[in-house]
Amino acid sequence: MENRFAGGCASCSVWVLAGGGFLGKGLDGGWELRCATCQFAAGRAAADDFDPEVIELPTEPPPGSATTVPLRVLMLTRACWSCGKDTVCLIGLYPQRPGRGYVGLFTTDNAKTMALVRRLLQQHGHAALAATVKSRYSRTMRERQLSNGCVHCDALQGNFPVHDEALGRVAASGVEGLDTLLVAACPVLKWQAVVHDNSGGVMAI
Ligand SMILES: [Zn+2]
Ligand SMILES: [Zn+2]
Repeated sequence: MENRFAGGCASCSVWVLAGGGFLGKGLDGGWELRCATCQFAAGRAAADDFDPEVIELPTEPPPGSATTVPLRVLMLTRACWSCGKDTVCLIGLYPQRPGRGYVGLFTTDNAKTMALVRRLLQQHGHAALAATVKSRYSRTMRERQLSNGCVHCDALQGNFPVHDEALGRVAASGVEGLDTLLVAACPVLKWQAVVHDNSGGVMAI
């Protein structure tokens, strides 16, 4: 059923104009709005030939969908394990205006999310901080990965301790337990590629 009223998508929080999306029942039994892209993605996920490693999205936002979505870039400050000084760790992305029924803080424990965070920082006047995100070798993971680095000494800030601390703060205080570095207008398809990635790095919130 099409939506009579404009609203935010329950899956991605992208703004949808009246008639531009679909209504369905949410987990709490109430009505939820889905944008055309997330409706399509949900249909694909239910199909027999669905491959969770492949993200299938349209090449441009469908009519009735906003083209950008305001996202909070979330961070926390903690002491670097190597030099002991306070350093910024980039934690993830969360919509500035979550749609009704929306759950999901997408974290930089996922390479695609970290790459999007870095790109948003580069585009919104935080090039120096963006430059601290690099591909570094993790002895824990035994592979190279895009990771937080100390702003003072460049030491890798390991995903496990950083995201363990972030999870604790979110469990105690919700999204406000983290600091918002900036709110960035993100192209919707870049955000939806993160939302519909199935390789982990999301906190229910
Ligand atoms: Zn959506
Ligand atoms: Zn350091």
